[in-house]
Amino acid sequence: MNISITKTTAPKQKPTDESALGFGKIFSDHMFLMNYTEGQGWHDPRIVPYGDLSFSPASMVFHYGQEMFEGLKAYRDAEGRARLFRPDMNAKRTNATNKRLCIPELPEDMFVEAVSELVRVDQDWIPSTPGTSLYIRPFIIATDDFLGVAPSKTYLFIIILSPSGAYYASGLVPVGIWIEDEYVRAVRGGIGFAKTGGNYAASLAAQVKAHDDGYSQVLWLDGVERKYIEEVGAMNIFFKIAGKIVTPMLSGSILPGITRNSVIEVCKHWGYDVEERKISVDELIAAQKDGTLEEVFGTGTAAVISPVGKLRYKDDVMTIGDGNIGEVSQKLYDTITGIQWGTAEDPFGWSVIL
Ligand SMILES: *Cc1c(COP(=O)(O)O)cnc(C)c1O
Repeated sequence: MNISITKTTAPKQKPTDESALGFGKIFSDHMFLMNYTEGQGWHDPRIVPYGDLSFSPASMVFHYGQEMFEGLKAYRDAEGRARLFRPDMNAKRTNATNKRLCIPELPEDMFVEAVSELVRVDQDWIPSTPGTSLYIRPFIIATDDFLGVAPSKTYLFIIILSPSGAYYASGLVPVGIWIEDEYVRAVRGGIGFAKTGGNYAASLAAQVKAHDDGYSQVLWLDGVERKYIEEVGAMNIFFKIAGKIVTPMLSGSILPGITRNSVIEVCKHWGYDVEERKISVDELIAAQKDGTLEEVFGTGTAAVISPVGKLRYKDDVMTIGDGNIGEVSQKLYDTITGIQWGTAEDPFGWSVIL
């Protein structure tokens, strides 16, 4: 790819207090853009100063939601180098999403090159305080000016970067999760496995309800029987039941998380039995009652591992563990973040140094 680079003439002031970065509020100096036109393919890859874009109000993305996104991070290691974590997996998932949403395929090497080049240009934006990172948000939107329902013939691929603070400023904190029994997120045959804004729009009502009741996230049940565990808001979910690591199998309605995949690989590497299967909420309640529900944790790029200390289902509130972090949860967090920041051995070859 021949990426043209136009550097900003007015670099922004970088945040000086890295403990106050938060998430998703600050953006770096540059962004990547590339157009797609039917008959011509992807063209005009370019890095330009970060700024507003202008679109026709008739642009298709505004009306029928033909849109996809990805999320990954760049980490600064002890030698000051930038590292990515399994960006090839984001490239593969991009195309799984694109296929479902009739968005043209984006060659995997183009995706990885675009991400890498933009991070190189804005590498000074990768914060260095332990736990901080540069969040990378690639996304594609449909740009035809047309109100008919059909796949767009033109698209824009955009990547923006946002320095983000440490998810856990003072150690891993167990969260409370609301098992949602009214709303559903996705059904098999739908778009649950695709990383697209529509899934999030559909999740907000339940999220607001859970927040109002003091729970930090929603745990979705299957959309047909409302009986089997699917995933958390923006995380996949794992259980340690009687020594085994159990997670819902990918059935089409669950987002195939890269952290999920990494956790499965690491647990197998450690010799754990890992089961990808259906887990009913009844099985969980029974396991909690007989004391075999040993650990519960969510997995996702933002938190890596998010221990769950409390699960609410209808009038039942289950507490997990003794308020402390489960042993496997903590070990997974240390191992995966160690690979990401380059402080631990990487037997899987997941870390990519830029
Ligand atoms: C992105 C996402 C995840 C986590 O995927 P990672 O690749 O591990 O970050 C889980 N569930 C949903 C709905 C997501 O959008």
